[in-house]
Amino acid sequence: MKAIQVAQVGGPEVLQVVDIQVPQPKPNEAVVKVSAAGVNFVDIYHREGRYKVPLPFVPGQEGAGVVTAVGSEVRDVKQGDRVAWAHILGSYAEYVAVPAHRLVPIPSGVTDQQAAAAMLQGMTAQYLSHDTYPLQHGETALIHAAAGGVGQLLVQMAHNIGARLIGTVSTEEKAKLARQAGVDDVILYAQVDFETETKRLTHGKGVHVVYDGVGKDTFEKGLNVLRPRGYMVLFGGASGPVPPLDPMVLSTKGSLFLTRPSLVHYISTTEELRTRARAVFAMIAEGKLKLRIAHTYKLEEAAKAHRELEARKTTGKLLLIP
Ligand code: NDP
Repeated sequence: MKAIQVAQVGGPEVLQVVDIQVPQPKPNEAVVKVSAAGVNFVDIYHREGRYKVPLPFVPGQEGAGVVTAVGSEVRDVKQGDRVAWAHILGSYAEYVAVPAHRLVPIPSGVTDQQAAAAMLQGMTAQYLSHDTYPLQHGETALIHAAAGGVGQLLVQMAHNIGARLIGTVSTEEKAKLARQAGVDDVILYAQVDFETETKRLTHGKGVHVVYDGVGKDTFEKGLNVLRPRGYMVLFGGASGPVPPLDPMVLSTKGSLFLTRPSLVHYISTTEELRTRARAVFAMIAEGKLKLRIAHTYKLEEAAKAHRELEARKTTGKLLLIP
């Protein structure tokens, strides 16, 4: 089968097309023919070596497809089932072996491409807005990179809750998408100082929560726009990792809360994984969550997808189609 492999960490050029054996299922696994694999920022961290993975590896954490074989102990999925997954390495391939208890059935009415687009970023947006900081109607949130993959989904969920949203983006085109998703006030943070602007928009009161997946370039100023006892939800570092922090800073800036959540801890049991995925699929089915599959690439174009994601050229979801 065709797959993308990383034999040494580095730039997008290390994403090589290789021909390898179709995996055979272990007793607890299902083998899935991949219909679509999601591209996520975490794939860049793995490729660069920022998050360590033993080499060589097939990247990609998310996808959807059809079960072609199951191991001897598997009871809850069978050949022909449509399934989706997240947080399983090896998804940039024609086939992937997944522990069956980490698969989620795709409901009718949701296509494979929609499922692949909804799993990782959708469940992330859902846990950030409902569990990490359960946003309330009438509260104000600052969401960075609001036109991105997670960004557009988080904005829609937060808007549905009835929060007031301030969103940052780098371009006018992205500003339009952020507004369409539900951002009330967009800040072009490459041109305007988002700290000053957020303070102005909130009449100096600040926001209840900052959802920050940008990291290095935004984190410190983000602490300055929180109201006392506000929440800094730092969930990624698209611009680079945040340097170490003296906890005393949280006190002097207003008894702030800081968390650095990861999806893996919010889908740790099969029950939580499937409940969370079902919640996202239900939002799609009810028309409350619009997926924007903005870019589809052939599997062989994985490097191109990474280049565009890194260069901030993309909006919404990127999929690889094997
Ligand atoms: P996005 O589609 O949001 O792409 C990243 C965006 O970040 C860019 O489009 C860009 O938006 C913004 N950005 C700001 N500075 C930079 C920079 N220097 N280089 C590149 N991009 C920059 O990606 P994802 O939706 O896949 O991921 C968003 C974030 O969420 C990532 O940090 C990722 O790691 C994190 N994440 C965390 C999870 C968790 O559980 N903790 C799970 C899933 C994702 P703009 O041009 O508007 O500035």
